[in-house]
Amino acid sequence: MRFLSTRGRDEHRGFSEALWRGLAADGGLYVPEVWPRFSVTDFDGAETLPQVAERLLAPFVEGDALAPKLGEIAHEAFDFPAPLRQVRGTADNEILTVLELSSGPTAAFKDFGARFLAACFQRIRKPDAATVNILVATSGDTGGAVAAAFHGRPGMAVTILFPKGLVSPTQQHQLTCWGDNVRAFAVQGTFDDCQRMVKEAFGDVGLQHAQQLSSANSINLGRLLPQAVYYAATSLAWYRQRGRPLSFIIPSGNLGNAVACLWARQMGLPIGRVVLAHNANRTVPDFLSQGEWLPRSSIATIASAMDVGNPSNMERMRDLFPDHGGLRNAVSAISVDDSAIRTRIREDRARFGEIWCPHTAVAAEVWTTMPAELKGAEAWCVVSTASPAKFPEIVEPLIGMRVPIPETLARLFDRPSVFEEIDASLETLKGKLK
Ligand SMILES: *Cc1c(COP(=O)(O)O)cnc(C)c1O
Repeated sequence: MRFLSTRGRDEHRGFSEALWRGLAADGGLYVPEVWPRFSVTDFDGAETLPQVAERLLAPFVEGDALAPKLGEIAHEAFDFPAPLRQVRGTADNEILTVLELSSGPTAAFKDFGARFLAACFQRIRKPDAATVNILVATSGDTGGAVAAAFHGRPGMAVTILFPKGLVSPTQQHQLTCWGDNVRAFAVQGTFDDCQRMVKEAFGDVGLQHAQQLSSANSINLGRLLPQAVYYAATSLAWYRQRGRPLSFIIPSGNLGNAVACLWARQMGLPIGRVVLAHNANRTVPDFLSQGEWLPRSSIATIASAMDVGNPSNMERMRDLFPDHGGLRNAVSAISVDDSAIRTRIREDRARFGEIWCPHTAVAAEVWTTMPAELKGAEAWCVVSTASPAKFPEIVEPLIGMRVPIPETLARLFDRPSVFEEIDASLETLKGKLK
């Protein structure tokens, strides 16, 4: 399989190369040149995430040096589950399920993509090559997931830049508790400054000569493809049991999780409707309703991992559905404001006994406010993107109780936090990278 840029057709890359480069030379995002098609029976005998991953991803690595290693990569990356459970207490004609994607080391869905990418990078890198330094700018979950995925891997290092004072105390701890081959810097600036510094570092010839820099950005194909695996495995399990497709409501920001779901459906998996649940950053809902793409600055909300005003993966969505009418048939998108998120967290604890993280609550609100016919017509699944225990500052005052802490997170809280503060300049960063 070859991968092309969303912006041009002249670059053709194999799987390893597309992962290693991250972004196409013309600034576009890599997409597969053709879509493999599967039927449900192609997955007979495949039940677990690693088993489904091996079959679903085989066509993408075909012809690449990683092809013979796909099995071991899948087992290493998918070593925690993505359970689906039904919510009790809905009306008789309504089916509501939750897909829990927060069982990984940092209790958010980004663990799946980050761990798959790390497992691939380690096998792409030549054993005698210089240490690869993965540079990440983060405003929340990405940095922690990438740090966890690369922590302790020989020949790989991670450098995290986060905006000082602009991430929650819980998030900051998850960025700074690693040590060893992971270093964290609190930048005196905003998330945009952190991102600018990463871009400048990649553009700096001297730095590129001195060491091998790479990125684990969320637009990397190696983070998107593994996310299609949990949609495939979940929809297959549901279909085998109930004989009908499952429809997903996905908390969305940069649209990586949503594109992965659309890709799984494109390949023939039994997925019904796909609804994008956005916070007050309404670029995508406005685009779908009005037809004009108007990216804007992001607005700060309590579902902060979704504060994206110019979602990069829209390029991949439009590549899949170039025509506006086609895109509108394929997905819908709804925006939810902070006060509705708060109400949803409070009420769903009371009516269902569910404790949502602020991002998952956006999807729960979309389900709640859906027209009754639509609610009754499909079997719905709210995608839970993170554990509420990552956001105790927001969730606990709303539900009036402590949020139980999963063991994975408790282990991180026990580690000491270490970071250095730096000003928002490339020169300072360069000094630290030497
Ligand atoms: C990153 C993130 C999202 C948004 O996912 P995208 O793939 O960027 O759309 C939603 N919820 C949580 C908890 C996240 O960390």
